[in-house]
Amino acid sequence: MYDLIVAGKGPAGISAAIYGVRAGLKVLVIGMEESALLRAHTIENYYGFPEGISGKDLFLAGIRQAQRLGVEIKSEEVVGLGFTDALTVTTNEASYRAYSVVLAMGAMRKTPALAGIQELEGKGVSYCAVCDGFFYRQKAVGVLGNGEYALHEAQELLPLASSVTIFTNGRPMAVPVAEGILVEERPLASVQGTDAVEAVELADGTQVPLAGLFVAEGVAGVVDLAKKIGAETAGAQLVVDEQMQTNVPGLFACGDCVPGLYQVAKAVSDGAIAGMEAAKWARSQKEA
Ligand SMILES: Cc1cc2nc3c(=O)[nH]c(=O)nc-3n(C[C@H](O)[C@H](O)[C@H](O)COP(=O)(O)OP(=O)(O)OC[C@H]3O[C@@H](n4cnc5c(N)ncnc54)[C@H](O)[C@@H]3O)c2cc1C
Repeated sequence: MYDLIVAGKGPAGISAAIYGVRAGLKVLVIGMEESALLRAHTIENYYGFPEGISGKDLFLAGIRQAQRLGVEIKSEEVVGLGFTDALTVTTNEASYRAYSVVLAMGAMRKTPALAGIQELEGKGVSYCAVCDGFFYRQKAVGVLGNGEYALHEAQELLPLASSVTIFTNGRPMAVPVAEGILVEERPLASVQGTDAVEAVELADGTQVPLAGLFVAEGVAGVVDLAKKIGAETAGAQLVVDEQMQTNVPGLFACGDCVPGLYQVAKAVSDGAIAGMEAAKWARSQKEA
């Protein structure tokens, strides 16, 4: 039995684990070898790194820091979440019980199987509007997706870009779209360009000129898990209060899987709050 289990070992989960272990808890982190950080070539806007730091180095440094402080870390895939006499996290390998659980599973971005998209990553194909939107001031941009996350990215880009089009790639738009954002629902054929994105080609041959394409395909993994235990969700994210607590007692969430900025600074802050509040909850349960 653990005091705290954290699902996810990106900056939010590791931060929650660090605050939990420093509060005296027995903490287990379960996470796969993935993180939005591993896609970030250089992080230049996080406190304390005057020359910037690669996303991979920051990811690995966080894990080492948590391990040095006594956090146990397992590389497993979380597949279930439940409650019997305690919260139970099920992975592809085993089930683990805890007084409190923090979900910090991010909003893993899928790379769609669209011709040209991988080749143009970092050359106009981006996965982060708040990180890269600045480069597209007064230029036409597109967002690939059809849900809350796509809308969020489009809204980030709207004040900067000359036009913002959400490309749903043959699917209906799943959420109402804010004024000023265009929606193109026809299927896509490819992203065009050699050294930089120049256009998106639709399946019917229409070319839509663009300077940038932001991929925002939502991942429902964390939401599916939360739904298994009755945690309230909103779109692709979990609903939490100011203490990062969901509506399920003892279940907290933080980082990219809850509303707010998709940024390391915010993930770390969320994680600190979730870790401290989870520690309070676990102590109250042990004393009861
Ligand atoms: C290309 C790119 C560039 C970026 N640039 C910047 C930048 O310059 N500055 C900045 O501040 N931010 C940047 N970001 C955003 C930043 O990386 C994220 O906001 C941050 O990593 C979110 O942290 P997180 O812990 O919530 O999620 P993540 O870092 O995504 O971690 C999620 C964790 O959950 C795990 N997980 C998910 N599902 C499961 C499962 N079923 N079982 C087990 N584990 C699971 C993953 O393996 C991972 O360990 C960038 C992101 C991208 C994609």
